[in-house]
Amino acid sequence: MSNVTRIGPGAWQISHPFLGENEVIGSYLLAGQNELAIIDPGPGSMVESLLESIREAGFDPQEVTHILATHVHLDHAGSAGTLVRLLPRAQVYAHEKGAPHLLDTTKVVSSASRIYGERMKLLWGEIESTPQERLTIIEGGDILNVAGRRLEVHYTPGHAVHHVIFFDVHSGELFAGDVAGVRLQDVDYVRPPTPPPDLDLEAWSDSISLVKSLRPDVLYIGHFGAMRNIPEHFDRLREKLYSWGEFVLGAMRDGKDEAEIISMLIEQTKPELLRAARDPHAMERYEIATNYPMTVQGYMRYWRKKHPERL
Ligand SMILES: [Zn+2]
Repeated sequence: MSNVTRIGPGAWQISHPFLGENEVIGSYLLAGQNELAIIDPGPGSMVESLLESIREAGFDPQEVTHILATHVHLDHAGSAGTLVRLLPRAQVYAHEKGAPHLLDTTKVVSSASRIYGERMKLLWGEIESTPQERLTIIEGGDILNVAGRRLEVHYTPGHAVHHVIFFDVHSGELFAGDVAGVRLQDVDYVRPPTPPPDLDLEAWSDSISLVKSLRPDVLYIGHFGAMRNIPEHFDRLREKLYSWGEFVLGAMRDGKDEAEIISMLIEQTKPELLRAARDPHAMERYEIATNYPMTVQGYMRYWRKKHPERL
């Protein structure tokens, strides 16, 4: 199975064979006017497969000029530092609130090591820092003229405080990162990825409204691929973001601990996914894209930090 799919003129979707699963973590490649841009290059463990995919699309990876990060979570931009070391022309673009984690990855490495332990290397590979001169700060309102396109940058916090999306007004394509949640291909089911420490439901809801108001023709999401039923998709995502949040809050108020709440949320939500997927393996695939422990930790931190009055 090829990991590279042409999605339009000068545009390719790349699937990383992460943990042996295809079409769970994706990157996008844009080419034009002697420029080559990667949107969300993926984790450090997938660098080799990323470079191979670029070759498969017909390009020399040495020609990469832009690495655009919707946000700096490891599954989206963990490879940035390694890539700028390997690719002499490449410059990384990220929001100012995410930039510190790219410039110095020490904190990210130590906190991820606490969570992932021995699986750290397998999951994320090397997490190298990006030198200052190889990083450009972007913010909402910026226009990036990249690979023959005019990409609008819009600030879309909620999933992460430094999340942005890239919108090509001319083609109607919107590169959405995680603001549109997780919805794997051929499964009619959207799941909210709500990791700590930034989760903010009000901000995310506003970001959803913003993206809808841009009226994109197609969303390209990180997990995974193209999505076209956009208003309905976002309505379902917003409903789930809040209903899962209320569920976690209710369990916290009942005095349940984190482990109990994780089990309760799985029990509460698993049947709907299994009905939608008709394939028990879909549960594992969604769990690779976003997992229940992180989901619950994100909500618990959100309620404690932003709404202690409701506890
Ligand atoms: Zn993310």
